[in-house]
Amino acid sequence: MELRGVRALIFLDGMPNSALTSAVEPGSSADDRKFDITIRAGVLRENISEMLTAKERTCFEVGATGFTVSVEGGSMDAIVYVLLHEVTHLVDSVLGLTPENPPCGQQRACGPTEPPPNPPATPF
Ligand SMILES: [Zn+2]
Repeated sequence: MELRGVRALIFLDGMPNSALTSAVEPGSSADDRKFDITIRAGVLRENISEMLTAKERTCFEVGATGFTVSVEGGSMDAIVYVLLHEVTHLVDSVLGLTPENPPCGQQRACGPTEPPPNPPATPF
């Protein structure tokens, strides 16, 4: 399988989120645009239910109400979901579907970012 536009797929421990897609040269033309996709290494050991449950629980204080949040999404490997999600950011950027500078008051929830100041790891 060829992932056109992906320069590196990086697995990194200690990320606060599941993954991050970074444009290598944000100003390059759509045809030449390349991206690094950095994925929290723990995703490789999780299924979709485990990953999304942990992610959603970060929005709530544990024990504050006695309620808990769980996501039942089956046993599909989490990496499938993460790759699909991150590649949609790549497609969005190349096709220019989401404005680079959203209107005032709107903020991008997630999407391609500027490259980190220090590349986090050697891709493998
Ligand atoms: Zn995203």
